[in-house]
Amino acid sequence: MVDTVVHDPTKEYTSSTYPKQEQPAPGLQSRMTPIPNCGEQTYKGSGKLTGRKALITGGDSGIARAAAIAYAREGADVAISYLPYEQPDADEVKTLIENAGQKAVLIPGDLTNEGFCQQMIDQTVKALDGLDILVLSAGMQQAYESISDIPSNILIKHFETNVFSMYWIVKAALKHLPNGASIITTSSVEAYNPSPDLLAYSPTKSAIVAFTKGLAKQLIHQGIRVNSVAPGPIWTPLQIAGGQLQKNIAKFGQDTIYKRAGQPAELAAAYVLLASAESSYVTGQVYGVTGGIPIA
Ligand code: NAD
Ligand code: MG
Repeated sequence: MVDTVVHDPTKEYTSSTYPKQEQPAPGLQSRMTPIPNCGEQTYKGSGKLTGRKALITGGDSGIARAAAIAYAREGADVAISYLPYEQPDADEVKTLIENAGQKAVLIPGDLTNEGFCQQMIDQTVKALDGLDILVLSAGMQQAYESISDIPSNILIKHFETNVFSMYWIVKAALKHLPNGASIITTSSVEAYNPSPDLLAYSPTKSAIVAFTKGLAKQLIHQGIRVNSVAPGPIWTPLQIAGGQLQKNIAKFGQDTIYKRAGQPAELAAAYVLLASAESSYVTGQVYGVTGGIPIA
């Protein structure tokens, strides 16, 4: 049934406080309270991505899972990558994609390994018989009170996971991407307004913004668009698996003008728009879904 009611966005998806909870990274969303809303019950497609072939990194959970569900319901076949630990979340997404009548491909592996990034692209192209939407959303985030507390190996891992993997994946994908393909990275409000306790993370997101804008200029000559989605505070496993200091979990997102966090479902439309031909004149842009936090 079509929803004809006008909804107040500040009253949608509210959760007065979040219960204390912590998981080892990368976390499982099926074990969160409340479980993030990725549009499983609500997203309705209208054929915007019929026949398209998408690879979505980190598609087992959170924001990228919302994109995976939306893409399948818009008519795309979808491959998702994730870490082997996240198999239970990934299995749920496979079922959701298949229930939408589309092909689902599961590719577990570690994106900090360049060889795996190449293998992931080869496997996707083989299984989907091509690739024309590439969503780079996998990422890690660990919070530390002080710069002095950040172990060097964790700092390096942030850059390998969030930034270097994008080079490796795009390098491997380029020869397969046709004119009209779309690449969508996931940056963050943290690129523009960094939190004091996210010093290992925020600069990776600024790097992704520069990567996106530069790559867009390079690839438009091949008819490939490159854009980024910049989320604000969104309720996902990344946040309760060390991404926030424990003391900040209960009131997560309440410092926005909405006075609430966002849910992954609220990001899906942005990923659909940037993937579809309806945004044919849009490249090198950052689309903020931030609960009103400025990104310029
Ligand atoms: P999430 O935990 O659901 O997704 C992150 C995914 O990254 C994981 O599911 C995992 O599969 C993948 N990943 C992490 N390390 C990996 C590795 N080494 N190899 C392969 N895969 C790996 O959390 P999310 O919040 O939906 O995160 C998605 C993206 O959104 C991330 O890039 C994150 O930085 C970004 N983001 C999130 C928020 C937020 O508030 N949740 C805000 C801004 C940006
Ligand atoms: Mg996950």
